[in-house]
Amino acid sequence: MLRLSEIKLPLNHTPEELPAAILKKLGVPASDLHGFTIFLRSYDARKKHNILLTYTLDIDVENEAALLKRFHDDRHVRPTPDTEYKFVAQAPASLEKRPIVIGTGPCGLFAGLVLAQMGFKPIILERGKAVRERTKDTWGLWRKRILNPESNVQFGEGGAGTFSDGKLYSQIKDPKHYGEKVLKEFVLAGAPEEILYVAKPHIGTFRLVGMVEVMRDTITKLGGEVRFSSKVETLQRENGQVTGVTLASGEHIEADHVVLAVGHSARDTFQMLHDQGVFMEAKPFSIGFRIEHPQSLIDKARFGPNAGHPILGAADYKLVHHASNGRSVYSFCMCPGGTVVAATSEPNRVVTNGMSQYSRNERNANAGIVVGISPEVDYPEHVLAGVDFQRKWESQAFELGGGTYSAPGQLVGDFIAGKASTEFGSVLPSYTPGVHLTDLATALPEFAITAIREALPAFDKTIKGFGMHDAVLTGVETRTSSPIRIRRDNETLQSINTKGLFPAGEGAGYAGGILSAGVDGIKIAEAVALSITGRQG
Ligand code: FAD
Repeated sequence: MLRLSEIKLPLNHTPEELPAAILKKLGVPASDLHGFTIFLRSYDARKKHNILLTYTLDIDVENEAALLKRFHDDRHVRPTPDTEYKFVAQAPASLEKRPIVIGTGPCGLFAGLVLAQMGFKPIILERGKAVRERTKDTWGLWRKRILNPESNVQFGEGGAGTFSDGKLYSQIKDPKHYGEKVLKEFVLAGAPEEILYVAKPHIGTFRLVGMVEVMRDTITKLGGEVRFSSKVETLQRENGQVTGVTLASGEHIEADHVVLAVGHSARDTFQMLHDQGVFMEAKPFSIGFRIEHPQSLIDKARFGPNAGHPILGAADYKLVHHASNGRSVYSFCMCPGGTVVAATSEPNRVVTNGMSQYSRNERNANAGIVVGISPEVDYPEHVLAGVDFQRKWESQAFELGGGTYSAPGQLVGDFIAGKASTEFGSVLPSYTPGVHLTDLATALPEFAITAIREALPAFDKTIKGFGMHDAVLTGVETRTSSPIRIRRDNETLQSINTKGLFPAGEGAGYAGGILSAGVDGIKIAEAVALSITGRQG
């Protein structure tokens, strides 16, 4: 197979134009082309009136060797690399102790799945409920203002990304193509095939729920075990080596290998690990608000006359502004055609985030507009001071929202002018259970408010209309990434002071997003397998 990259065609090209472009590029007759598949399709919308599709194609063609020789100097004609996933180990016939995986977010699920595929029969422990029951509890907050602290947007089967936009792209370096394994497993579990080749794939929340169940089923059939309502409350260590875990129920499970994939919201678990002496350090994260605009405004600004084209779908954006007070403001987790969701896991606190369905056809676009903060400057007191910082602003948001889990909100025009909002304009917010209009000036530290006030008009220069008076801000967006890192050894991927403990995924500070968390899960499964079979660590 040959891989051809940078084949550019107009947005509205016919199906026949694709093979024609291959033949033209290679200068071969049609009879030489036996077939082709699309490896990647992206678009270039820098010229709104002339949007181009860019393809990378794998082609089956006559005389490959001769063609490679002829195109020796052309980096866009290369042999198709072998990116098939290969397992690093197989479990021994007599496995003395099964590995434990804590958490069923994308990291824990992929660690569990790959361990199960290698025959290690992992025990996967999840504090929350199975995904269908969890969905009911999550709706309990969104519809009835009732929060279940153990079963919500952050906790339960599927982890934090289950009620999300299901964006599946990442900027991580992935030389071993683990991302491809993640996407292929998702397709086997029911994701649309197009996620394998579109440049910015997404799944949407509805499909994710079913996929998570299929993956659990696969793990179980391979001899793994997934236990819900099984919160790990303590970790046993002897002479710096993990020996097991104890659940909230009091049950003790022995293990020499424990994957810690607890996500960024497991604050009680972070505290427990810290109390037990597991090494961790504070790390930077970001805070801000969610912003909502009409999706049609974003589509028009990005795609001009091509807005609404089915290949382009609902438009996204990515914005950055370096404010004059030295802070960076950027858009985060943009959800085209989606809704803003209540994402707290703790009582009497308000946290925003975004999600969408696969169709992305809700009327508003939403994104976090967040400001970077760092432990050195903003929460230097102690390792877990970032958690205290988050809690402070989440509690403040609860109060500003009226103390009923409504989110405090303000129109962008009023926020910039520094006056409280009293009435919605043309944009109606999507956050449930509700938005309480107020003045957001005290909802975040002053430096963040100043930086966001400066950034919104600046963003309007890139996306015309972004600073529109009626766009709605809701807050607060505090769970952008983990406030800590649980440091691990680069080679064995084990905690630097606790042998047998494998900190993983977003909570440990090694991933940000579904795809990168899944990739980290695979890496960790391999590290556990190599350690159990005595080939590493
Ligand atoms: P998590 O997914 O957080 O999973 C951790 C799991 O561990 C949880 O299920 C939790 O219940 C469990 N757990 C915690 N403590 C314990 C304990 N002590 N014992 C047992 N179990 C425990 N990312 C994207 O890439 N694209 C998106 O579109 C996107 N949208 C998002 C929308 C929302 C509303 C949210 C909240 C997040 C979104 N994200 C998105 C971020 C993404 O979900 C996370 O980056 C990802 O889920 C991190 O995976 P993880 O496995 O490391 O942790």
